[in-house]
Amino acid sequence: MYDENNVFAKILRQEIPSTFIYEDDYVVSFYDIHPKAPTHVLVVPKKPYIDLNDFMQKAEQDEVYHVLKAVQKVAQQLDVVQAGYKVLLNVGKGAGQEVPHLHFHILSNKK
Ligand code: AMP
Repeated sequence: MYDENNVFAKILRQEIPSTFIYEDDYVVSFYDIHPKAPTHVLVVPKKPYIDLNDFMQKAEQDEVYHVLKAVQKVAQQLDVVQAGYKVLLNVGKGAGQEVPHLHFHILSNKK
């Protein structure tokens, strides 16, 4: 079951301050608090999905498209497309998912 008190749910409800570098109808994006690369940004869907399994069970195709499109748009906005970037998606505690709200990491060696 989705935990309404996870840190990203609180950020989305603006109970915890965060500076969004991108926002649209489907996602928000902000810098990771503990960056693991010179550029490390998170893209977080607005709806309460726990992880990729939950997302693919519940989301409409249109939403899946828009969320992935937003990940690529944020990479463009960060100007890391030419340098290259990784998109990381941890699914489940066993894979290192700490925050139980679906999020995509964008990591690039370009600052
Ligand atoms: P994961 O291990 O895939 O669940 O990733 C969670 C990420 O969220 C980690 O890289 C954390 O550094 C990051 N994080 C946790 N709290 C915050 C916060 N308040 N603002 C920004 N990033 C956060």
